[in-house]
Amino acid sequence: MTTFFCSGILFQKGMIDMSNSLQHLPSVRELLEKDELRKHSTNKNIPLALLKEWIQEAIDEVRSAILKGDKMWEHPSREKISLWIMEQVDDRVHSGSVYSLKPVLNGTGTVLHTNLGRARLSDRALAHVHNTSKQYSTLEYNLEEGKRGSRLSLIESLLIKATGAEAAVAVNNNAAAVYMILRALAQDKEVIVSRGELIEIGGSFRVSSIMEESGAQLVEVGTTNKTHLHDYEQGLSENTGMIMKVHTSNFAIVGFTKDVNSHELRAFRDETCPDVLLYEDLGSGSLFPYSEAGIGREPVVRESLNRGADIVSFSGDKLLGGPQAGIICGKKELIDKLKKHSLARVLRLDKLTLSALEATLFDYVYDPDSRDRIPALRDILKKEETIKERVHLSFEKLQNKKSLTVTVVPAVSKVGGGTMPVEELPTWGLMVKKQGMSVNGVERVLRKMVPPLIVRIMDDGIFIDFRTIDEDEETKVIDHLSRLNNE
Ligand SMILES: *Cc1c(COP(=O)(O)O)cnc(C)c1O
Repeated sequence: MTTFFCSGILFQKGMIDMSNSLQHLPSVRELLEKDELRKHSTNKNIPLALLKEWIQEAIDEVRSAILKGDKMWEHPSREKISLWIMEQVDDRVHSGSVYSLKPVLNGTGTVLHTNLGRARLSDRALAHVHNTSKQYSTLEYNLEEGKRGSRLSLIESLLIKATGAEAAVAVNNNAAAVYMILRALAQDKEVIVSRGELIEIGGSFRVSSIMEESGAQLVEVGTTNKTHLHDYEQGLSENTGMIMKVHTSNFAIVGFTKDVNSHELRAFRDETCPDVLLYEDLGSGSLFPYSEAGIGREPVVRESLNRGADIVSFSGDKLLGGPQAGIICGKKELIDKLKKHSLARVLRLDKLTLSALEATLFDYVYDPDSRDRIPALRDILKKEETIKERVHLSFEKLQNKKSLTVTVVPAVSKVGGGTMPVEELPTWGLMVKKQGMSVNGVERVLRKMVPPLIVRIMDDGIFIDFRTIDEDEETKVIDHLSRLNNE
């Protein structure tokens, strides 16, 4: 009884403290009168309206912390609150960009990092984007004839040269490509897929759901680990329109397995059901023979098409190293059907992407040094020894950082983007620990810097993998670590 009474009093006292504290909240107008804040608008080019929003958000944050009874705001003075708010606004002013999409340093070593934008574009691709977007362009204009042209034909000949296909078209991403192919070429028909290939790829992209959306009817054959040619044969019916093969790029089934490759499927199709289409969703679809460089067993697109599928699709920003896009290559009569389909308009690429894709493909076709020019290729193919040398150079510049323990250590990087999941690329990087700060603390501090440095947590330290740090980014990494030392 007594306890109940006491806690009642305490509760009331808390309420009074709270409303007292709330009275100390400054107003946006009051804070804007402070020179320290106002000058951001002029010196740092932060629009006044944005500055006001940031101040308001910081005030709201303090208000809800007070209402939650946060210890930090038990007896706040107006001064303390104002200072804190100004610090928050300062952080945002110095966060490097007024935009939400900010550049970061990728210290994870994962080259096609899905959360960090997958492939980076080459300088040439960026220059082409710049030129064709700053000015008017021939996006849909035929210069020879002085009349309307087609954006679809801009990159087709490069795609044909790069893959050996009869024809090609590109759409927004590979998920869109899969949808379009099923819808335009297999609607109301049965599509046979091996159970071992009914994959889900990040987000909510499932082969089975896309199939349903498209109006094609999924016929599953075989089992998760084994599918034989006779399974496909049993799946055939009068209504079969397509056999679809999906490259299981983001996982590996090991052990007791069997699948039927596209060449075997082609021979089977030609013999038993010549009217059924053969489609292969390659996922990453590489134009560079990574396997010849000892990395993975990814088929190049040309091989898949040659005596394989009638039509294939793959992403533009995975192993290709270009912008987000879905590339479709194959028999001319099929590509023509896709180009004429109303989805072609819905899923069409814009000029920024088309420019970036054209410049990237151009390098594959004509530049023998494309592997050094396209960042994704360059990073995946980077030699362990080269990375180690770069790490040592940075390491030498990090002496006398008293509060840090920095070591040069080997590790493995991943290709990422759901590509070559079991492939381990030997790499080197810096292992960093800071006296008196937890590993998670260090990770957070580096993530809050400008530009943010995203790292891996490994053992009991943070690890910065130099596979994905460019030479011109190394000084930024060193600066960040120096600042971490002084924290
Ligand atoms: C990544 C992937 C997709 C989706 O490609 P996006 O370009 O991300 O839309 C589809 N199928 C496979 C097999 C993939 O690996």
